[in-house]
Amino acid sequence: MPHTIAIDGYSACGKSTLAKAMARQLGYRYIDTGAMYRMVTLYFQRNDIDISDEGAIAGAMERIKIDFVPGSNDALLNGENVEDEIRGLAVSNFVSPVAALSAVRSAIVPQQRRMGEEGSVVMDGRDIGTVVFPNADLKIFVTADMDVRTDRRLAELEAAGQMADRQSVADNLRERDYIDSNRADSPLRQAEDAVVLDNSNLNLEQFIARGMELARAIPKQS
Ligand code: C5P
Repeated sequence: MPHTIAIDGYSACGKSTLAKAMARQLGYRYIDTGAMYRMVTLYFQRNDIDISDEGAIAGAMERIKIDFVPGSNDALLNGENVEDEIRGLAVSNFVSPVAALSAVRSAIVPQQRRMGEEGSVVMDGRDIGTVVFPNADLKIFVTADMDVRTDRRLAELEAAGQMADRQSVADNLRERDYIDSNRADSPLRQAEDAVVLDNSNLNLEQFIARGMELARAIPKQS
């Protein structure tokens, strides 16, 4: 039986850093579900899809093909590598309203479940432990202080050559947390059986070591 590790939490808490490192160490596939919603958002922006137009959304979802480049895990939207573009503030500022749409989630979630059936995965997102894989072998809910999260996201954007001011980054994180936690369909919340990992005062090595301790405690035959 493939193993599933679900990592959820607020924006810029370090979920993907943890998920990637754990997947590498465990030999599991890493799946970045946020990238999937970001690709849908980019497609909507490029094609002027009105998010109040159900027909336009349904049509768009049929034309969108989401993949990841094997190895690098770069985001592929209809065959085009859009990894850099989906990480910028233009997409970040619009992704939560798009991800709140049931017509979008009902197209994306089955793809995520299929990926989880193909083999062992570490999947990060907002609803993985609650909706996508409620029976995951391990659920981790990652948290960190707002200041720490803002600094990290700012550093990531700067490293990618995308300049942003601290206030805009903090505003975007707060707004996404709010929309993601208050939407009707699959709101972000901690699963009852999730282990909370607050990394505000942990360095990277300690953070990953805590995740790996939890992974090693998964019963082998489950
Ligand atoms: O993880 P990341 O910050 O890239 O996610 C971008 C956005 O995608 C989130 O703010 C949220 O609105 C949406 N998302 C979601 N469900 C997931 C993963 C991401 O709604 N499982």
